Amino acid sequence: MADDTPATLIVGAGPGGLAAARALADHGLDYDHVERHSAIGGLWDIDNPGSPMYESAHFISSKTLSNFPGFPMPEDYPDYPSHRQILAYLRAFAAHYHLDQRIQLETTVTSVTPTPTGRYTVKFKPASAGSKPYQRTYDHVIAASGVQWEPNVIDVPGFTGEVQHSQTYRDPQEFAGKRVLIVGAGNSGCDIACDAARSAEHAVISMRRGYWFIPKHIFGVPVDVFADNGPALPMATEQSVFGSLLRRINGDVTRLGLQEPDHKLFETHPILNDQLLHHLRHGDVTARPGIASADGSTVTFTDGTSADFDLILLATGYCHSVPYAQDLYGDEQHPDMYLTAFSRNSGLYGLGFVETNSGAYRLMDMLAEMIASHIWDRDHRPGQWERFERHVASDDPDLTGGLQLVNSPRHQGYVDSHTMDRYLRMVCRRMGWDLR
Ligand SMILES: Cc1cc2nc3c(=O)[nH]c(=O)nc-3n(C[C@H](O)[C@H](O)[C@H](O)COP(=O)(O)OP(=O)(O)OC[C@H]3O[C@@H](n4cnc5c(N)ncnc54)[C@H](O)[C@@H]3O)c2cc1C
Repeated sequence: MADDTPATLIVGAGPGGLAAARALADHGLDYDHVERHSAIGGLWDIDNPGSPMYESAHFISSKTLSNFPGFPMPEDYPDYPSHRQILAYLRAFAAHYHLDQRIQLETTVTSVTPTPTGRYTVKFKPASAGSKPYQRTYDHVIAASGVQWEPNVIDVPGFTGEVQHSQTYRDPQEFAGKRVLIVGAGNSGCDIACDAARSAEHAVISMRRGYWFIPKHIFGVPVDVFADNGPALPMATEQSVFGSLLRRINGDVTRLGLQEPDHKLFETHPILNDQLLHHLRHGDVTARPGIASADGSTVTFTDGTSADFDLILLATGYCHSVPYAQDLYGDEQHPDMYLTAFSRNSGLYGLGFVETNSGAYRLMDMLAEMIASHIWDRDHRPGQWERFERHVASDDPDLTGGLQLVNSPRHQGYVDSHTMDRYLRMVCRRMGWDLR
């Protein structure tokens, strides 16, 4: 091991890794930064093998509230930038803060193992021919390797047609001439159902429950900006006011074959999509409840209806796995981390694990600043370091903001962004940490 190994390693050069790099550099902390792909940008690079990106994808949160602090998105971007624009933004961010020059590309972390002295030995596998695997030992490892790389695949017993997870879906052309069933109504599932509505021979979306469909604009303003500009209301009032506004805007969605939501607004991850309702209203796609059974190409739904399909596309989400150190991060459905970023194992951190009802980059950036401050404290304010270590071990705040979130893997560990923001600021004040 070379003696010049810095204290910290960042794994992954998507938004989380870039936020971590900026925060460490700001604190004057040295680090190594590796990325397994040949370019930076994380899942926003559609050419990054295994990326869940598809051609029609756009940001779900608006550009106004989704930028990294201090680095706005370009003026000429639309309210909801395309995946290519987000990638360009991330690369511009990396270049602006000179983070790109420090990233070792085409280098995969294959394992992280604790040493008897409380450090971490990391094994690396370079992609280039002739380069040998190597290892280095660090005091701190920040896993920013993303949580949308391992598909959560469900079984459809009896179905003999093609089954594909949305991770490998790219382009609406893939649906041409096919009878397509999309399973799952997250944001990707709804986007892809709209692609199918326009290009498949026949398109159906199956969802096990009813959801709230939030338009991307209200009165011409991006919906998150509209909500942000309004008065801060208690959650129950917000649910009631926005809930009745949505009922008026969308009308009776059961006319479109959708189920009534079995939960209050915001108690599932918000679906920001105007187009699905449009296509349902035009008959280009049909909504069905959950799958009851399948036999050959025929799928029967829980309402007793059935239809034939060539392709079932599973938009059933991802496992939050950290394959190179799963045992250190906890359950792959729900990693055990304080504030979604501080592993209970001292010296291990994660960025990008936050699941929230707003743009994630500002929270990600705050968490990156907190990780950097904590690492800085170890050498400069050991008392504060120990104090925060005790917090990590014992503090377990409720960050749901009073939301009774539905019981599903995705919503375990889900946080309300305003509640999280307030809590992080409070922790920073107590610790004497500055935020950007
Ligand atoms: C269609 C879609 C729309 C979305 N819209 C929004 C939105 O509007 N707003 C929002 O805030 N979020 C949105 N998201 C969430 C998205 O997860 C984040 O925007 C963001 O990309 C997550 O960043 P990350 O850095 O945590 O992970 P990623 O972007 O996944 O980056 C992780 C990086 O780590 C690398 N890596 C993985 N394993 C290793 C390893 N072992 N060694 C080295 N490198 C490794 C990967 O190659 C990748 O480059 C959306 C996601 C999708 C799929």
